[in-house]
Amino acid sequence: MRIILLGPPGSGKGTQAQLLIQRYGIVQLSTGEMLRAAVAAGTPVGLKAKEIMASGGLVPDDVVVGIISDRIDQPDARHGFILDGFPRTVPQAEALDELLKHKHIKLDAVIELRVNESALLSRVETRVAQMRERGEEVRVDDTPEVLTKRLASYRSLTEPLIHYYSERRKLSTIDGMMAIDEVTRAIHRLLLALGAVEPKSHTRSAAKAAPAKKAKKAAKKAAKSAKPAKKAVKGVKKAAKKTARKAVKKTAKKAVKKGSKKGPKKVTKKRAKR
Ligand code: AMP
Repeated sequence: MRIILLGPPGSGKGTQAQLLIQRYGIVQLSTGEMLRAAVAAGTPVGLKAKEIMASGGLVPDDVVVGIISDRIDQPDARHGFILDGFPRTVPQAEALDELLKHKHIKLDAVIELRVNESALLSRVETRVAQMRERGEEVRVDDTPEVLTKRLASYRSLTEPLIHYYSERRKLSTIDGMMAIDEVTRAIHRLLLALGAVEPKSHTRSAAKAAPAKKAKKAAKKAAKSAKPAKKAVKGVKKAAKKTARKAVKKTAKKAVKKGSKKGPKKVTKKRAKR
């Protein structure tokens, strides 16, 4: 499965990506994380990106396209990936199309997490508070001033991707204002509907969450309750057939009684057809 998560900073892309990778065993390819790692390691890419990131600007397209292209080639991305934070501009999306074509990889979906802008600042503030609580280093670009700039760049450079992917019939939009697990469920339903995941991937994760014995019991119970359902369908079908036969007989009798000119047989057939 190969998907893109699209949404402004604070829309929950990172959180959803984390939950999806656990569920489907695929990898999250976050350009933001890769760039932060490059900055921390002091690589040439990191040195280039450091100031730009700190001020809330966008790192040049060729730099991020290069790191994504290399990352997709890694063995762990073979089974699928979630692109988080990439592409962020139309030229990046075009470059991605090209490189996926070249690598014979098909994109399953682009999922836009739609959120109210008014909620974003408080979401990012919550993220900062939680990171501080966990004793983690807070991102230098998670300040109200830089966030305002990141939002402006999202609006002008990234939002056009919504049109780009909807024109290519790849875009699906999910209400990102729902609770985290509701958003995850909505994404799962969407992936099922698109055929990007097997229905069993749902069962598998449910079974994983429950102890093996419990899962077995639940499966047995489900199988048992499925049987009466089958029976019920059969019963309904049988009853419907019986009613139809009765109606035909009744109509025929009536026609004979009335002494229809066309004769009972013809009327019966006609009515029965209806
Ligand atoms: P994120 O973690 O996705 O919020 O990204 C953090 C920062 O990394 C962004 O504000 C940009 O400066 C930079 N960045 C991440 N992804 C990209 C990208 N696809 N194109 C350009 N810059 C990026």
